[in-house]
Amino acid sequence: MFGKILIANRGEIALRVQRACREMGIRTVAVHSEPDRDLMHVKLADESVCIGPAASDKSYLNIPAVIAAAEVTDAEAIHPGFGFLSENADFAERVERSGFAFIGPRPESIRMMGDKIAAKAAMRKAGVPCVPGSDGPLPEDPAEIHRLAREIGYPVILKAAGGGGGRGMRVVHTEAHLLNAVSLTTAEAARAFGNPALYMEKFLETPRHIEFQVLCDGHGNCVHLGERDCSVQRRHQKVIEEAPAPGISAEQRQTMGARVAQACQDIGYRGVGTIEFLYDAVAQTFFFIEMNTRIQVEHPVTELITGIDIVKAQIRVATGERLWLSQDDVQLRGHAIECRLNAEDPERFVPSPGQITAWHPPGGPGIRVDSHIYAGYRVPPYYDSMIGKLIAFGIDRDEALARMRSALREINIEGIHSNIALHRRIVDDAQFAAGGVHIHYLEALLDL
Ligand code: ADP
Repeated sequence: MFGKILIANRGEIALRVQRACREMGIRTVAVHSEPDRDLMHVKLADESVCIGPAASDKSYLNIPAVIAAAEVTDAEAIHPGFGFLSENADFAERVERSGFAFIGPRPESIRMMGDKIAAKAAMRKAGVPCVPGSDGPLPEDPAEIHRLAREIGYPVILKAAGGGGGRGMRVVHTEAHLLNAVSLTTAEAARAFGNPALYMEKFLETPRHIEFQVLCDGHGNCVHLGERDCSVQRRHQKVIEEAPAPGISAEQRQTMGARVAQACQDIGYRGVGTIEFLYDAVAQTFFFIEMNTRIQVEHPVTELITGIDIVKAQIRVATGERLWLSQDDVQLRGHAIECRLNAEDPERFVPSPGQITAWHPPGGPGIRVDSHIYAGYRVPPYYDSMIGKLIAFGIDRDEALARMRSALREINIEGIHSNIALHRRIVDDAQFAAGGVHIHYLEALLDL
């Protein structure tokens, strides 16, 4: 086992990784930007290194600074968390070449899944159903593009091969708008991702977002940990997640789960990963959209229903350990729901940085709070506005939901604005309570 791990991240996930390390008897090195000295995990780390100023590209995205910090502190492995450098194949390669273990997939897996065209091709080859669309990058010839869209059927969605974070997508409803949309999206993709390549998919009108969690050891062993429903989204950003997905049968779970685990085995995957699908509830069909090659924000809901600590599992497979559980050992029990807590204006959704003057985390049976905030902590304006996650577990969905409602009444954050009121509204809504909402549910609710 590693003696010391460097955590190349900040905030809630850095603290989550640190907790796993401490349980395993592993020392931790925190790296942080200048304004992040007061982060909870920095205070609790065995060692900490300031790696640059506030701007992410000069600190958390500064590869030489992160590697130098690992060198001076004699860390053996680097955990990238999510966001920042977590899906940067060049970073993973540099980490390994510098003699450290990267707690994540092999660089070539990250590179393949980072190119969504390559990812779709790999999944299709492995027998995973994909959204109907161009089986590769868009052709150059305008007549060919027209023919393709007609074949797929309008509406279609143009997506950047290098896209991520809900950016680089455009829906096209009619032929008249197609070519203009292609040139706009190509230019945006080149600017934002340094890769102008686009592909085209059928635009599914009211799908649900359902994703499968996998755990692989890099020796050819792979299990799935069931699915999560992340359909409650605003601007393609997840707001509430739950596991298992309402209405998905044990048989569907077993079939799709086995298929994704097999696909990961086929591509020689190592570590944890998430295979994301759009789910057509009427036809009961899954369509692959992308694979994330890192720990996800919403991993706790899976932890609560499987009893598996996914971060500890990540660390164990990164040492080269063979998988210690078989698919039959993965048993789901109960239901879990997660609300993402953001420091943001509840009406306009703009970030609300500032000093937290009071903080009361809720408690009681089945309540888990993953957060780095404390009274007196100042939420900086430079990074993502997520300040934590509130997670409720129950023996079934009704109990989890009742506990979440109660916890959302108890929770208190003062000094900054937060989205707690929005969460209260969603969990009190009859449609959400019934389960199985689609990805435009929240935007429709907010429009009312
Ligand atoms: P990103 O990497 O930017 O998150 P994804 O491919 O995962 O991009 O898509 C993000 C979200 O965009 C999905 O959760 C869904 O809401 C929407 N989306 C993507 N592809 C389609 C599609 N073919 N039809 C309808 N909605 C889509």
